[in-house]
Amino acid sequence: MPTPARRQYLDIKAQYPDALLAYNIGDFYEFFDRDAEVAARELHLTLTARTFGPDELVPLAGVPVHAIHVYAARLVARGYRVAICDQVSPAGRGLVRREVTRVLTPGTVVEPGMLAATRETNLAAIAFGKRDPATGIPRAIGLAWADASVGAFGCVQWPAEDLPHALQAELARLGPAEVLISKPVADEEALAADWLGAYRLTSCAEDAFEPESARIRLCRHFNVATLAGFGCESLPLATAAAGAIVHYIGRVNASLLPLLSDLRTYETRGFVEMDGRAWRALEVVEPSHSEYASGQRGVTLLSTLDMTRTAMGARLLRRTLLHPLRDRATLEARLDAVGELVGAVGPRQRLGSLLDGLGDLERLAARVTQGAAVPRELFGLASGLSRAPAVIAALEGCDAAELREAQAALDPCDDVRELIARAVADPSEATGRRVRAGYSPELDALVESASETRRWIAALEGIERERTGIRSLKVGYNKVFGYYIEITRPNLSRVPSDYQRRQTIATGERFVTAELKEHEARALHADERIEALDGELYAGLLMELARAHPRLRQTAQALARLDLWLAFAEVAIARRYSRPTLTDDTSLEIIGGRHPVIEAALDGVEFIPNDTQLADLNAGAAQSRAMLLTGPNMAGKSTYLRQVALITLLAQAGSFVPAQSARIGLVDRVFARVGAEDDLARGLSTFMLEMVETAFILRHATERSLVVLDEVGRGTSSTDGLAIAQAVIERLCAVTGARTLFATHYHELAELAETLPRLGAYHMEVAEREGQAIFLRRVSPGASNQSYGVQVARMAGLPAEVTARAEALARNHLIAGDVTARVAETAAVYDGRSDGASGADELVSDADRELTLALASMNLVAMTPLEALNLLFSLQQRALASLGMPAPRAP
Ligand code: ADP
Ligand code: MG
Repeated sequence: MPTPARRQYLDIKAQYPDALLAYNIGDFYEFFDRDAEVAARELHLTLTARTFGPDELVPLAGVPVHAIHVYAARLVARGYRVAICDQVSPAGRGLVRREVTRVLTPGTVVEPGMLAATRETNLAAIAFGKRDPATGIPRAIGLAWADASVGAFGCVQWPAEDLPHALQAELARLGPAEVLISKPVADEEALAADWLGAYRLTSCAEDAFEPESARIRLCRHFNVATLAGFGCESLPLATAAAGAIVHYIGRVNASLLPLLSDLRTYETRGFVEMDGRAWRALEVVEPSHSEYASGQRGVTLLSTLDMTRTAMGARLLRRTLLHPLRDRATLEARLDAVGELVGAVGPRQRLGSLLDGLGDLERLAARVTQGAAVPRELFGLASGLSRAPAVIAALEGCDAAELREAQAALDPCDDVRELIARAVADPSEATGRRVRAGYSPELDALVESASETRRWIAALEGIERERTGIRSLKVGYNKVFGYYIEITRPNLSRVPSDYQRRQTIATGERFVTAELKEHEARALHADERIEALDGELYAGLLMELARAHPRLRQTAQALARLDLWLAFAEVAIARRYSRPTLTDDTSLEIIGGRHPVIEAALDGVEFIPNDTQLADLNAGAAQSRAMLLTGPNMAGKSTYLRQVALITLLAQAGSFVPAQSARIGLVDRVFARVGAEDDLARGLSTFMLEMVETAFILRHATERSLVVLDEVGRGTSSTDGLAIAQAVIERLCAVTGARTLFATHYHELAELAETLPRLGAYHMEVAEREGQAIFLRRVSPGASNQSYGVQVARMAGLPAEVTARAEALARNHLIAGDVTARVAETAAVYDGRSDGASGADELVSDADRELTLALASMNLVAMTPLEALNLLFSLQQRALASLGMPAPRAP
């Protein structure tokens, strides 16, 4: 039989099986049993044991109460949930009452010390609709997300035809720290792993996602009768996901619920769509791990552009880069704001100095609403708000609509500042109280009476010395006995009769008097009442301030926007960026374009600008819409490709661009794929992955898209690689019509440009001097005629006989003839495409080839059985899909 104490622990633990339970006992939070083993391993704590009853010894690891947040942060960062169990009744006789007061999870942490200042921490929830029995794909999916550290809350729903790519693109933008799914979905490992493998999943009870109860839960949460005002009334899965968020946050930390006061239903069609790999290939917010690195480790487009001055601005910059837009009017409005600041020295400088050192008002306001803000934070909030009038003045006379709107949205919140100044104690005065003197007469009276009592006690020493004539008499205090009068041994005979002896010490004895005890009791009582009243008044104050949350958040967001436009303007000035011209056609024209990140990293060395001309779809067939860029390794191909994509993204984020001039026909999607980038973690060999993604691009690119393919086809033998590369280019040019940049060191491919309409061949110029290749970094029309591999080998010090022999071999092996033959061959395939003759047989054989390739390139040795099973599952799905057969049911 467990003891009652052990029973209590086990009961609480049973309610939080998926969390590590930090159990408060005295000055420690203790972990027990398996939790102790995990905590000891992850936090490098000593694992000991504790008796929990007469003959039960259980593993134990503990951390001091004051350090729990530091340790919990580490556990959460590693993906654990930590349930904090506190004592909720004062220590006394019998069992102390304990309760889990909150659960720290990766997606719901809000503690300032546990959050990254410059990025959002999002919690997402995904509700899956009923599956199509044939494909296994849900008929619709809803997603909701919340950033509880600022109170942002949104939801969206997609129909089957957008799946899974729209979901995956949104997840890549949100980068959620934690994703909630329902238990049945989590149990279907293949789906969870395939679609959501990259995220930390938390499974919730199925009814948390049930649309009708979610709707009711949300109505209750918002205190409304219908969700129509939130725009999700007719989107049951978006509603279900939003309901799951409220359910979960209510369970792990209910104090955050008041923050979720507004739910925004949105669509993702307005954003440029990109998948996670494209973001990484372009190193927008995260460095990629591919062989291509932009010179310095960890440098990204975000880090290069981040001239924001506030944490709110830095978060907004990150979000803006992750949400490039397709709507020209919105982008023009942003560019107007940036442009005006570029041109106006005065406002720019004034705004800059006002934003310097400005606190994170957005998160401070949320701390108020959560009821967690301490006086120091309230002072920070007030001092930040006090800059608003000057910011409003600095924007006086500005024309750009965005600037005027931000100016209008700024609310100095005088009432908030006034209340904080009047009611909150200055933390530097260290009175131990949070409420300022003068705010509450009742509190002031208590404080006064307590200090009067203390003054009486302080005066007692002098009075008693006089009365007794003992000059060494002392009044002291300790925790056990409270106040006492201490008399040294030689003077004991002179102790008055009203002294009561309490304690003997080495040098004398300690006494109390009835009067002293009475004053002491009065002081202690007053202290208790002061603390209680101070706490009550302060909580009321936070509640009153919380009423201003919408205005505070609106002001914080306006300041963040100003910070962002200013940062864009300052980058534009410092790096000579220009305002792009945006168009609704499908052309792309860049004069003197540069790579923003590499240019900034090459300090001292000049970056060589290059032009790009891709014609509109309706332009004559003689004008190219696709570039085939050849050139040896290290010539600058990858840099050029990314520079075009990054200039496009920057323009569609509303920023100026690193080019002399740019005319950009707005793109709907950017596909970026770098060959030979391994992803062993997913158990897919390079080549397999390359093909899976290339297939995806071919299926989803539109004539509005921008496709950037860098060395695709490199992961296999050169014959196969060439063949695949060629087929892909043909498809993109002849069928899809997307603007395409294709870089390859297979210079043989350039001949394609002669036969394929709309494909232009270009090469990176290389000069040769005394057997050495000199890279000029210039993009020129025409194909490069050699790969310079031999020159590079020579530069690397290979013996002369070897390089001479290699040169001779290379001459014999030129396979230009082969390429021409293949061009004819594939042209025939495409001619047959339109005559309707391609029946199921041909489909099967295509699918066969694809599956054979996939199988051949599997790296079985590097896979876990589960990964192998997942792969097998996805291969089977594709086989079934190509045959139009339904998935077999589980027995
Ligand atoms: P490739 O893809 O052809 O092998 P990269 O694009 O990786 O070549 O370029 C190699 C290096 O050359 C880059 O890391 C960069 O330092 C430098 N580089 C590339 N383009 C330029 C340029 N336009 N101006 C200056 N340096 C460049
Ligand atoms: Mg390259």
